[in-house]
Amino acid sequence: MARVQDYVNLGYSGLVILSSESKESQSGMQQEVERETLVCRDKKKRCLRITGAWISDGLNPPRFRSEREELISETQYQKLVQERKGPLDDQRFYAERQRRQMQCLAAQNELANLTPHCPKCSVRMTLRVNSRDQSRFWGCTQYPNCGGTRSADAATLRRIDDLSAFINSSR
Ligand SMILES: [Zn+2]
Repeated sequence: MARVQDYVNLGYSGLVILSSESKESQSGMQQEVERETLVCRDKKKRCLRITGAWISDGLNPPRFRSEREELISETQYQKLVQERKGPLDDQRFYAERQRRQMQCLAAQNELANLTPHCPKCSVRMTLRVNSRDQSRFWGCTQYPNCGGTRSADAATLRRIDDLSAFINSSR
């Protein structure tokens, strides 16, 4: 994963990692450990798209070898920043991302707590759809080995739909 502070040390800011690929290719004593493409600003605040590789000699911390740098427009840069929900090194965006992750975790916990256990074999159940009237009910995840079911009340189903929608929108 991106070493944000390492890029900051190189003089880059407003970092957005577009792709990151772990590699273990060796040439002589040098080892390429990771290849990344990112957009950022340089010291003159120009917007850049950079592709490079982190190189390790096994003894010292990995060094970044920039292989391709191109200037991009402020508009292109801002678009990528918005898509990726903000630069990695920006505290405001970072705090927002953290908050969102906490809410997502809470939603996942609530969802798990709303999911009942099978009355016959005690495993967690899953929502299934009745093929005759399209209504939903809880079915055992061990079906067809276990035929345990429970009815699902409307209020719980509404809450589950809301939580699921929230979790999906946070992905
Ligand atoms: Zn069961």
